[in-house]
This record gives sequence, C-alpha cells and structure tokens, in this order.
Amino acid sequence: MGHPDEQGIVIAGGGICGLAAALALHRKGVKSIVLEGSNTLRATGGGIGIFSNGWRALDQLGIGTELRRKSILTSMFRDVNLRTGELQERLCGNTELRCLKRSDLIEALANGLPHGSIRFGCKIVAVAEDSATSFPLVYLHDGSIISAKVLIGCDGVNSVVAKTLGLKDPRPFRVWTIRGFTNYTSGHSYGSVFTRLLGGSVTFGMIPIDDNLMHWFLSFRCLPDDSRIEDSEQLRDLAMKLVEGFPADASQMVEDSDVSSLSFTSIRYRAPWDFLFCNICKGTTTVVGDAMHVMGPFIGQGGSCGLEDTIVLARNLAEAMQEISVNEFDDRLLQKRVAVALDNYVKERKLRVLRLSTQTYLIGMLIYSPSKVTQFFVFVLLVAFFGGKSFGHSRYDCGQL
Ligand SMILES: Cc1cc2nc3c(=O)[nH]c(=O)nc-3n(C[C@H](O)[C@H](O)[C@H](O)COP(=O)(O)OP(=O)(O)OC[C@H]3O[C@@H](n4cnc5c(N)ncnc54)[C@H](O)[C@@H]3O)c2cc1C
Repeated sequence: MGHPDEQGIVIAGGGICGLAAALALHRKGVKSIVLEGSNTLRATGGGIGIFSNGWRALDQLGIGTELRRKSILTSMFRDVNLRTGELQERLCGNTELRCLKRSDLIEALANGLPHGSIRFGCKIVAVAEDSATSFPLVYLHDGSIISAKVLIGCDGVNSVVAKTLGLKDPRPFRVWTIRGFTNYTSGHSYGSVFTRLLGGSVTFGMIPIDDNLMHWFLSFRCLPDDSRIEDSEQLRDLAMKLVEGFPADASQMVEDSDVSSLSFTSIRYRAPWDFLFCNICKGTTTVVGDAMHVMGPFIGQGGSCGLEDTIVLARNLAEAMQEISVNEFDDRLLQKRVAVALDNYVKERKLRVLRLSTQTYLIGMLIYSPSKVTQFFVFVLLVAFFGGKSFGHSRYDCGQL
C-alpha cells in the first residue's frame, strides 16, 4: 500500500453541497479539494426549487444574481384536488421561489472554484481514523489513500462519511418520483405559477424555469405491477400511465418531455428522531447536505437547507483556520480549533435541520398517508408546531459567510 497523499480540507462529493462548501471556503480564502466519484459534474433530477433561504445562501456565495437571470420568480402556488375539484391558490408574497436547472446551479458553483479544485473519478469506499494522528484517512476505489486534516462529507444520501460518524441509514418513505423537463419552443402558457394536481395516490407538479422550459414531477405511492424501468423511454411510458385521467395538458407535458432529462427516485429520509441523537461531527470530520439530513421533497427544502449548512460551516471553519496555514501548522492546535468550529457548526444547524426534517416528514404523511385518522393527527401537529402548511421555513437567514 502506497504512502497516503496528505491534504488539508477534503470535501467528499461534488454535488450541490460539496461544490457550495468548496466555494464558501474559497470565498473565505480557505483552500479545499473536492473528491467526486463520477467522471463529470452530475446534475440528475431536472430542476430544483430554491426558496428565499436558499437564495440568501447563494447571494453569500456570490452567484445569486447570475442564477436569478436564469429562472423566473414564482408568483403563486396553485393546488387542484382532482377528486373534489377544490382549488387552493396562495400568492408567494415575500417568499422568493425560483426553479433552477440543476445543471445551471452546479455549473455556477463549479465555475467559481479555482482550477483543479475538483478531482473526478475519486470514489470513496471507506473512511477511518489514523491511529497515529487522529486525522481522517480517506480510502479510494483505486486503492489510493488520502490523509485529510479536515473531512467534510457531502456525499449524499448513501454517504460513506455519515456511516463513519455512526448516522443511521436513511429510511424509505415508500413514495417514488419521476422528474423531467419539457421545452415549449414558442413559450408555455403557465406564466409564473407553480401548480400541483393532487390525484390521490399520484401528484403531478409543474413549475416554470423560464418562459420556455417547464420542470415537472410525478410523485406516487405505488408502482403499477407491470412497470419496467430499464431505460428513459420506459420511464416516460410509466409516467404516461400515471397521468392517465389527469387533465390533457399534464399528459401532453409528459409526452413532449425531453427523455434524456427523466429521472426516477425512491424517496428516502433520515428520520427526525434518528437525527436528534446522532453525532454530526467527530474530531475533524463532519457532514453537510443530504449526507446529514436527507429529507423528502415535500416542502422543497433539502437543497436550500444544504446551502445554508455550507455557509455556516465555512464561517466557523474559516474563523478556526485564521492565522494557521494548512500546509505548515501545528497539528494539535489545528485539531483543537477545528473540533470547536465543527461543534459550533452543529450547534447552529441542529435545531434548524430538526425543524425542517420534522415539517417535511409531517407534510409527506399528510399527503401520502392512506389513513384519514393519521392525516387528522398529522394536521393537528403541523398547525400546532408549524402554523399549518406555511412557508415560514423560507424566512430563515443563515447569516453572512
Ligand atoms: C425528487 C426530489 C426532488 C427534490 N426537490 C428539491 C427542491 O425542489 N428543492 C430543494 O431544495 N431540494 C430538493 N430536493 C433535495 C435536493 O435534491 C438535495 O437535498 C440536494 O441535491 C443535496 O445535495 P448534496 O450535494 O447533499 O447531495 P447530492 O446532490 O446527492 O450529491 C452528492 C455527490 O456526491 C457524490 N458521491 C456520492 N458518493 C460518493 C463517494 N462514495 N465518493 C465520491 N463521491 C460520491 C455523488 O456523485 C454526487 O455528486 C429534492 C430531492 C428529490 C429526491
């Protein structure tokens, strides 16, 4: 086995949160490297809705203005209950919600990083503590080892870093989604409205990205028995089957979609009660984004919450690194300072994440629980703790970098 490659701050995973963490540190003058398992930047899932709290974080990263130009401001939420015909409309008011192409977000984050910050094709297979130094050792699939002074796990729902910290595996919500884009070359007719068609066990949502492009999603709690999903065409066939009986424009949107944009996901979540009692950091290792708090998409906050994490983490880490050069430091001093910084990061994030993941879980139960009794109790809890289905969660401000 070769000698470990010694590095300073190592970020595991180059998705939204890994790149945002690297950019936040870079803006604070702190160097890091990102280890991404894929050979290119990944942007699976079509669009991503970013609420005011996420935009505040993007502004801190210096890419908010550029990204606002690529997405229109949502003016209204419209829910149509297809079984009862009930229509609910809410103006967005002060809530800033815009749906971005994930690829635009990923590119804007990556473009802000110094050349060579991202190492592609670096799949992490294990993490361990170096018994001699107590720093994390990162094992890659090609047999190489990286010795990191600080390890930030941004490796998503199946996080290797989270496992090392002892976090419990995410649970299945028993809800699946199909997401995709449909481009209307002569412009679509949906204005700036985010519409959800609630069809019982199937929900169809559509939100504009710009005047031509619509992001849509289908979420459903049972897969048709004969469904086979081996390629994008079969995925579109399944989506077509699920929107049978929905208004014609919904099935037309699915039929006209760009097959290469389609993705299928089984929703998973880290249960709020699992999260409450787990270690989010240990020594100089911690987790960010889905690696820490994967949640269902029911209030569209997973990504925005992860962006908040990166600002809070970079602020604390940069303070700890002040006056210490990562290449010529006193290991003990660095370990002590980073441990305090990560503790502060966890203290700042824990309650916020707990509230968001609880609210997400309850909204998911409200939409998808087949039991009316459960739905009633969940509704009471939501009103008692979160003021109903409000968007108060987007008022949170993660502060300055
Ligand atoms: C259906 C659905 C809809 C959603 N809608 C919204 C929404 O509208 N708004 C919102 O804010 N959030 C939404 N989310 C949540 C949002 O997508 C996630 O919270 C966000 O993508 C998390 O980013 P991340 O960087 O933590 O993880 P990921 O995006 O999963 O990135 C992880 C990265 O790590 C890499 N990686 C993984 N394992 C390894 C390894 N072992 N070694 C090296 N690299 C590795 C991966 O290749 C990937 O690039 C939605 C989620 C789903 C499932």
